[in-house]
Amino acid sequence: MNPQELTIENAQEMLQKYYGYPDFREGQKKIVASLLEGRDTLGIMPTGGGKSICYQVPALLLPGLTLVVSPLISLMKDQVDALTTAGIPAAYINSTLTGKEVNERIRAARRGELKLLYVAPERLELDWFRLEMAELSISCVAVDEAHCVSQWGHDFRTSYLAVSPFVEELPERPILAAFTATATPEVMEDMLRLLRLRGPGVFVTGLGRDNLAMSVLRGENKKEFVLEYTASHAHQPGIVYAATRKEVDDLYQRLRNAGFAAGRYHAGMSDDERAESQEAFLYDDIRVMVATNAFGMGIDKSNVRYVIHYNMPKNMEAYVQEAGRAGRDGEPSQCILLFSAQDIMTQKFLIEQNPQDSERKQNEYRKLQQMIDYCYTTRCLRSAMLDYFGEVHGDKPCGICSSCTDERELVDMTVDAQKIFSCIHRMRERFGVALVSSVLKGSRSQKVLQYGFDKLPTHGAMSGRTEKEITEIVNVLISEGYLALSEGQYPVVRLQQPAAEVLRGQREVRQRVARPSRPSAGGRDRSRSRDLSPSAVNETVFEQLRLIRRELAGREHVPSYIIFNDATLREMSVVCPQTEEEMMKVKGVGEVKYRKYGKEFLDFFQSELYSNES
Ligand code: ADP
Ligand code: ZN
Repeated sequence: MNPQELTIENAQEMLQKYYGYPDFREGQKKIVASLLEGRDTLGIMPTGGGKSICYQVPALLLPGLTLVVSPLISLMKDQVDALTTAGIPAAYINSTLTGKEVNERIRAARRGELKLLYVAPERLELDWFRLEMAELSISCVAVDEAHCVSQWGHDFRTSYLAVSPFVEELPERPILAAFTATATPEVMEDMLRLLRLRGPGVFVTGLGRDNLAMSVLRGENKKEFVLEYTASHAHQPGIVYAATRKEVDDLYQRLRNAGFAAGRYHAGMSDDERAESQEAFLYDDIRVMVATNAFGMGIDKSNVRYVIHYNMPKNMEAYVQEAGRAGRDGEPSQCILLFSAQDIMTQKFLIEQNPQDSERKQNEYRKLQQMIDYCYTTRCLRSAMLDYFGEVHGDKPCGICSSCTDERELVDMTVDAQKIFSCIHRMRERFGVALVSSVLKGSRSQKVLQYGFDKLPTHGAMSGRTEKEITEIVNVLISEGYLALSEGQYPVVRLQQPAAEVLRGQREVRQRVARPSRPSAGGRDRSRSRDLSPSAVNETVFEQLRLIRRELAGREHVPSYIIFNDATLREMSVVCPQTEEEMMKVKGVGEVKYRKYGKEFLDFFQSELYSNES
């Protein structure tokens, strides 16, 4: 399969030539090397980590065709546009094409005119298509969003089960490469088993993208927050995710009324409306998109500067995938989760509403609890997230998340914690957080009296606090591992080993209990200070470059970022290239793109220089 001993240096040349990038990212290098050795490979990388390059660069070097299995039609078109713009021969086959167009593309592949061919998984189930593919020389099959093969994942697609039989049936078995952003153990096992990867190299990398500042805010007035935040970031593209269509419509209306260029997206809109809205967002005609989780898979927009979650999602996988749509270009971006206790009720309701067997239900409750723990943790959010996904990291705080930048003082909470633990112990660890809190508050509700909990010495032990405050403290103690919740719809709170140590006076508990301050404009938003040499970025030049890009995008009928992304324009605005050679050194300017668009930007700089001198 690998006659001419392909090396990573060969791959690097392609990367520079076609993409204009001097280096692979750390994780990319390992994956590319593994594929060039002819090994099956499973690459786990966050959204925006640069998965596509991992199979596209090998595709350029390997003989024959790389077949890419991709779940979304919109994504295919985007990818193929980006490839052809960079001068790489690629095409897609999907249901939007006529029979004649499909045949043309298959013929082009047969003539060896394509390096990459994108197809939806359903196509692999068609006999005629399998016969056609058997005639081609396919050296690699790359499976995108490979978690769709797993029932544990959040986007199970039956047709992904057709991948493995398809691959095994080909006259010469190609290299199989699989990619996803989901790395939980169950999903990982399913991908290896159901795609039947042979002795694969498995690479989990870069889930903690260091350009993303993660925040969790509890107890905010959510509506106010969204309005303020979008107002202070009016010039930046962002996404606001809400749990329900109703909430999306409501927020959308408010933003519109306040005069923002807002769009919306949810499954209750017609196909046309959704397509239009998505298009407007891609082309920067609208700045903030309010959407349910129906929006996003297949959105390749790389300059999204913030993702706000108006509600807590159902699990960490979903959260990381959605939040990861921010900052795919590597520029500093914000991921803000607005949490309220009501979100827990909503998610439980959704689990109950969905008919499924009890094992799956248990699993969903467990994942939900882990999501809640994330919302309550006082640890570095990035570390907490990496631990969840099992990525090895040095436990070094990220320095930019809402935990790391929390400037409130740590308060000694040992006495309160002891009261809580003791109360749970006396209630025989058989009740949920709500009842524990109301006993500590000193409630005389029917349930409290019925169990005789008003006679406990801990009844009313925390009467100086509101029940809501007590619940908050209990939840933080859960997320810090002093307490644990049983699984299921009505979880019972139980003591863990560290709680026993606290009760014996061998251990202190410290918490940050005050209301978190908000990362609104300025303040917590560190993006400014982390920009590419902030003082160096010439904002007026940058704006003018954007205008040129917009014009080119209009002419070519592609979204702006396909021409050059923000990071590339930013670098140009700093370097102010005066010659072809200088222009080609800017990251993101490859040979073909230089020929197509570089001149227009160079012209701008040359005239700019001229006008500066005069
Ligand atoms: P994914 O498919 O993993 O979500 P993409 O392949 O779309 O991510 O890449 C995200 C962004 O990162 C794109 O703008 C891409 O051009 C950029 N990128 C990828 N690899 C590199 C690299 N080696 N150097 C610089 N930028 C890169
Ligand atoms: Zn942190």
